[in-house]
Amino acid sequence: MNHVFAAAPDSASMSTQQVKFFSGENVPLELHKVRVVQKLHLVPLERRLAATNESGFNTFQLGTKDVFLDMLTDSGVNAMSDNQVASMLQADDAYAGSQSFTRLQSAVEDVFGKKYLLPVHQGRAAENVLSRRFVKPGSIVPTNYHFTTTLAHIMENGGRVLEIYTDEALKLKSSHPFKGNMDIAKLEAAIATHGVASIPFVRLEASTNLIGGQPFSIANMRAVRAVTQKHNIPLVLDASLIGENAYFVKQREDEFKNSSIAQILRAMCDLADIVYFSARKVSSSRGGGICTNDKAFFDSIKDLVVLYEGFLTYGGISVREIEAMAVGLRETTDETVISQSPQFIEYLVNRLDEQGIPVVTPAGGLGCHIDAMGFLPHVAQKEYPAGALAAALYIASGVRGMERGTVSSVRDEHGNDVLADAELLRLAMPRRVFTLSQVKYVEDRLVWLHKNRDLIGGIHFVEEPAVLRFFNGRLAPNSDWPQRLAAKFRQDFGDSL
Ligand SMILES: *Cc1c(COP(=O)(O)O)cnc(C)c1O
Repeated sequence: MNHVFAAAPDSASMSTQQVKFFSGENVPLELHKVRVVQKLHLVPLERRLAATNESGFNTFQLGTKDVFLDMLTDSGVNAMSDNQVASMLQADDAYAGSQSFTRLQSAVEDVFGKKYLLPVHQGRAAENVLSRRFVKPGSIVPTNYHFTTTLAHIMENGGRVLEIYTDEALKLKSSHPFKGNMDIAKLEAAIATHGVASIPFVRLEASTNLIGGQPFSIANMRAVRAVTQKHNIPLVLDASLIGENAYFVKQREDEFKNSSIAQILRAMCDLADIVYFSARKVSSSRGGGICTNDKAFFDSIKDLVVLYEGFLTYGGISVREIEAMAVGLRETTDETVISQSPQFIEYLVNRLDEQGIPVVTPAGGLGCHIDAMGFLPHVAQKEYPAGALAAALYIASGVRGMERGTVSSVRDEHGNDVLADAELLRLAMPRRVFTLSQVKYVEDRLVWLHKNRDLIGGIHFVEEPAVLRFFNGRLAPNSDWPQRLAAKFRQDFGDSL
C-alpha cells in the first residue's frame, strides 16, 4: 500500500540557514506548531529537596510528578509528528508477515540503503545480539567512543573496547567541528598490535553520545572504511543519533553543504557493513533494528533475534510503534525536523559559554553538556561532581538532567572507580518538546547555581548495583550541602518556585 505517510520530504531544497531576525538577534525559530500539550508541575523547593533524598541523589530515580523540565534523555521522548501518530492507527496486527513491518523495511531501505532488517525492541537489544554473535573472551572492539550499554554488552561477552578518539575529542573547550572522529593512525596501530583475529568489528557511533553528542565527518568515516576494508574487518555503525550527525555534516563539512540530509544519511550508511539503531532516538518512537546488505550475515544472526526479541517481523516491538518508526525514519531526512534540537542546544551552549559557565563546545547533538569539574573545582572527582551538580540543579529548578561521569562508569578488578574521562551533566534537548522560554529558565537557574557553586558538595554511593550502576544506584550527600543550597535559594528567590 502506498499511503500518504510514506512520502519523504524533499530536503534538498531546504537550507541549514536559520530564519534571520531583523533585529539581528540569533533566535532559533520553531518550524512546527504545538497541537497536543501536557501540563507540567514545578513543585515547591521543599518537595524538590525531599524528592532528591527519596531518589537517592540519582535523577533516574525521580518520578515525573516531581520533574518540571525533563532533560534526562532524548530516548523515547521526542515529540511525535501528526503523521507518526496517524500511522499508528493503521497498524497491521499480526504475529508473522505484518504489513507494518513491510513498511518499516521499505523505510529502512530508502533511508539507510540496507535491504535486510532485523527488528529489536531497543538499541541495547541490537547490541546484545551483535555482541553475542561477534564478541568472544579476549575480543577487542575499536570504537570512536563507547556508549554505556555497548560497553556493558561487549564486557558481558568477555570482550573490551578500545577508544580510538582523536586528541580533540576529550577537550571540553574546542572549536573542532568533528570531535567524534576516529584517529586513523591509532586504529592502524591497534590492528597491528592486537591482530585482525581478535577484532570482531570496528564500531563508529554517530553524534558520539558520551563525549557530548559530537559528530564524525564523512571524510573520517571513509578513512575508517578504507582501513577496515583492507583488513577485512566489518564496520558497524551505531546510528542511534544519525540524524544529528547528518545535520552537522551538512553544516560543517564543505563537500556536503549542498547535499540533502537524505543523501548524507545514505553516504554514511553506504560506508558501513552493519547499521544498528535505537528508534527511541532516531525516530521518536520505540524499538530498534539491525540492518545490512549482507545476506550471509543476516542469516547468521536471525536466530538470535528470534531467541531474544521475537519473531522476525516484530522483534519485540508493537506494530503501532513499528508504523511510527517507519514514518519517523523517513522524517529524519527532513532538515526542519532534525534541526530543532541542535539549534536549541547551540543557543543554550552559547549563552552559558558567554557567561563563563563551563560547557562542552562546540555545541553538539542530543543536549547541552556542562563540565562539572570546571563548574565545581572544589569537588574531587571521586566525590562525583557531575552527579552532585545534577542533584543541585534539580533542587534549584526542578530540571532533571543526567550524570555522565564517574557514576556512569565502572569499577576495576580491585574495586576502585574507573574515573571517567570527563564529568558531564547532560541536559538533553528532545526534539520539539521544549519552548525557548523554558530553555531560558534553565539558563537562568544555571547562572544562579554557578554564582553559588561553593555551596555544592560531593556525594557517595550507599547502594551500588554491579552492572550499569547509574540506573538504580542510591547515593547520599557528603555533608548538609543540599540544605545550605536550599537556604540560599529561599534567600534569593523568596516565595518563588
Ligand atoms: C541510547 C543509545 C543506545 C541504546 O539504545 P536504547 O534504545 O536506549 O537501548 C545505543 N547507542 C547509542 C549511541 C545511544 O545513544
